[in-house]
Amino acid sequence: MSAVDAKGVNKFYGDVAALDDVSLNFPDGSFYALLGPSGSGKTTLLRAIAGFVEPDSGEITIDGVSVEHIPAHRRNIGMVFQNYALFPHMTVFDNVAFGLSVRGVSKSEIADRVRQMLDLVQLAGMEERKPRQLSGGQQQRIALARALVTDPKVLLLDEPLGALDKRLRQDMQIELRQIQRKVGITTIFVTHDQEEALTLADRIAIINEGKLVQVGEPDDIYEHPRTRFAASFLGDANFIEGKSDGQGAVGQTPFGTIRTSGTLPESGTSVTLAVRPEKFHVSAGDPAPGAMNALTGTVRQAVYSGSSVTYLVEAGGHEFRMFQQNRETSLFQPGEAVSLTWSPEHTVVVE
Ligand code: ADP
Ligand code: MG
Repeated sequence: MSAVDAKGVNKFYGDVAALDDVSLNFPDGSFYALLGPSGSGKTTLLRAIAGFVEPDSGEITIDGVSVEHIPAHRRNIGMVFQNYALFPHMTVFDNVAFGLSVRGVSKSEIADRVRQMLDLVQLAGMEERKPRQLSGGQQQRIALARALVTDPKVLLLDEPLGALDKRLRQDMQIELRQIQRKVGITTIFVTHDQEEALTLADRIAIINEGKLVQVGEPDDIYEHPRTRFAASFLGDANFIEGKSDGQGAVGQTPFGTIRTSGTLPESGTSVTLAVRPEKFHVSAGDPAPGAMNALTGTVRQAVYSGSSVTYLVEAGGHEFRMFQQNRETSLFQPGEAVSLTWSPEHTVVVE
């Protein structure tokens, strides 16, 4: 069952379609990432679910009930934003207790719930501190505790880790996921960071210019992007243009005929193929005889980053980006002639 359902939701700001016919269902208990560039409509969708933005048309339901006439404070939703928005003059205890105090919950129950929440986010003992006496990561954990204390049906997170530095962000990602699993709450997580979406989410929706581009499990979208945009926004991709032969091969590319296990349009149609940088195998000189998909080129750049090497290889007037785990004994240098080979399964047909 879906905890949250959006059906044909539209929202315009003047001529700008912030949400363009968005239909998306968020399964109960899922950790769902909304991934898209800045201005793509992610925040607008979260705010529409939360009740701070009224869609022009379409319907949103929570637990099967339309929320059209339910105001934000009665939707039973917890929210965390990038800029924490803790109450600066209140203690940690009072910040976390806030949602319960305004609901008139008894003092002893408040004390119990706040203690549970601070245990959950591993900040027990910080009750009397003020937000400014906490680090960025700690403030964000308090914001999470405050959002969860009322036991909401849905947790909405709008780039909650955006203000943290990389290392802390990675730690918080793991922690956030553990807390979500423990509580089991349906979570919708907005990010423009592809790695964060891949690491955290059970499902990802890619959104661009207010429209859904692709929805699926992280590995499915990564391995089978349907559009050029999806291929380059979630991960890196190299593109090759050619014409379909309608039977598993694409001809008239700068590299001869290329085979794909993807579904091709009818013979003669122009197609774009995408290959992920790590799917290539690089070797010196000409490709081994019998290699299915192969091209020869020249190394233009080799970027060494410890566990891996990224090569830029020029071939047929294109620059290919490829990525290799650093387990070979010798690395290729700029100027060397190399061949790249890859399999039809890793040759994705994109729109
Ligand atoms: P994201 O969160 O993906 O960066 P937003 O949902 O904030 O994107 O914005 C989507 C589009 O709607 C953008 O073009 C933005 O400028 C526009 N927009 C959002 N909120 C408003 C508003 N209150 N008034 C006018 N335009 C808005
Ligand atoms: Mg936003």
